[in-house]
Amino acid sequence: MDDKQLQEWVEEISQRSFGVPFLHQASFNRRLRTTGGRYFLKNHNIEINPAQLQTYGLDEVEKIIKHELCHYHLHLSGKGYKHRDPEFKALLQKVDGSRYCQSLPGAAKRRTLPYRYKLICVRCGMEYKRKRKVDPARYRCGRCSGVLKLHTI
Ligand SMILES: [Zn+2]
Ligand SMILES: [Zn+2]
Repeated sequence: MDDKQLQEWVEEISQRSFGVPFLHQASFNRRLRTTGGRYFLKNHNIEINPAQLQTYGLDEVEKIIKHELCHYHLHLSGKGYKHRDPEFKALLQKVDGSRYCQSLPGAAKRRTLPYRYKLICVRCGMEYKRKRKVDPARYRCGRCSGVLKLHTI
């Protein structure tokens, strides 16, 4: 898929799910890494991460596009367009958009890191997943108060 096809796709989704035309530019940006897409407040353009298409397929990318279009239409109509705004949440739910995207300037940053560590209780075997490295000596098992050991996943 190239930028022209993406543009047509975004226009089509805008019309079908929002009933309003998309009048700006949509393009792929290969430099986006962990982000599905983003919306630019300055010029109203949308960028989509092409890697998402290979990894997750058309359905998931359509949801990302819907997410960006929620920002787009709410912003242009002067409504709450940020992630925490009720209008944004309601519209996103209505069109069944993805919940994930890069945080907008001014919006609260939310990072979704993968779980890379786990604390395992040496007594009962209970596991606690952790995204960051922690000092196991500072914690005890919540179930049996046993000593914990840190493992990488
Ligand atoms: Zn967003
Ligand atoms: Zn335990």
